[in-house]
Amino acid sequence: MSAAPDTIRVPVLEIFSSFQGEGPRVGERQVFVRLAKCDLRCAFCDTPESYPTPDTARVQVAAPHGREERPENPLSVQQILDAVRRLDEPPGLHAAVSITGGEPLLHPQAVHALAVGIRHLSLRVHVETGGHRPGAVRHVLDVVDEVSPDLKLESATGAPTPWAAHEETFQILEAAGKAAAVKAVVGADTPPEEVAEAAVFAAEHLPSAPFVIQPMTPPAGKAGRPTLYHLYHLHDAAGRVHPDVRIIPQMHVYLGAR
Ligand code: SF4
Repeated sequence: MSAAPDTIRVPVLEIFSSFQGEGPRVGERQVFVRLAKCDLRCAFCDTPESYPTPDTARVQVAAPHGREERPENPLSVQQILDAVRRLDEPPGLHAAVSITGGEPLLHPQAVHALAVGIRHLSLRVHVETGGHRPGAVRHVLDVVDEVSPDLKLESATGAPTPWAAHEETFQILEAAGKAAAVKAVVGADTPPEEVAEAAVFAAEHLPSAPFVIQPMTPPAGKAGRPTLYHLYHLHDAAGRVHPDVRIIPQMHVYLGAR
């Protein structure tokens, strides 16, 4: 059972309406609740501003171009739910609320309470995670609709792949049938052998979910994006060992959306 939504507080970076830009739900209109803080430091990270807790959150007031409010952090879960309800106007405009970060599962109690409230708004609850916090996945599992865990490749993140945490996370999601996809970000230096190993691992521990290879989006002026030729090689390697492999770039970047 969740505590009352006005008693739980959590640091928030931003709340806004946009299109889902990653994975198999790409193009779907969603409200994004981006929680602050992350315990990883992926080399390709596109949201390093999420690492500290900002003094205030950026909260869009109405979709698509509403003014922003800047409430002080941390916000109560009730404040977040009020912002979501205000953005989803007319009700049902959005298909889901994506709880993202940073690493949202650093705040499992808040995610649990948020998910309960979001479901009361008749919106689907989608959680994005680095896939390395299985205990927190277990904590929120009953009240969320789907989770998109990453599979962190060392060649792209610059840190060892947390295989044991991924394995436990994937097994929990497979048993519950709640994985939207496994996402592996790849760069120009990601070898096909590493992607093949990851695809074998995903096929073994989370066979019900598509394996999404996401080309990294480096900061402007920096190298790192894999060529199309390289992506064919990576897909070939993964496709031999996994039944559902997809190449999906970050669509919101192409749209110029958040
Ligand atoms: S898990 Fe996400 S927010 Fe955290 S460092 Fe990696 S890419 Fe950035």
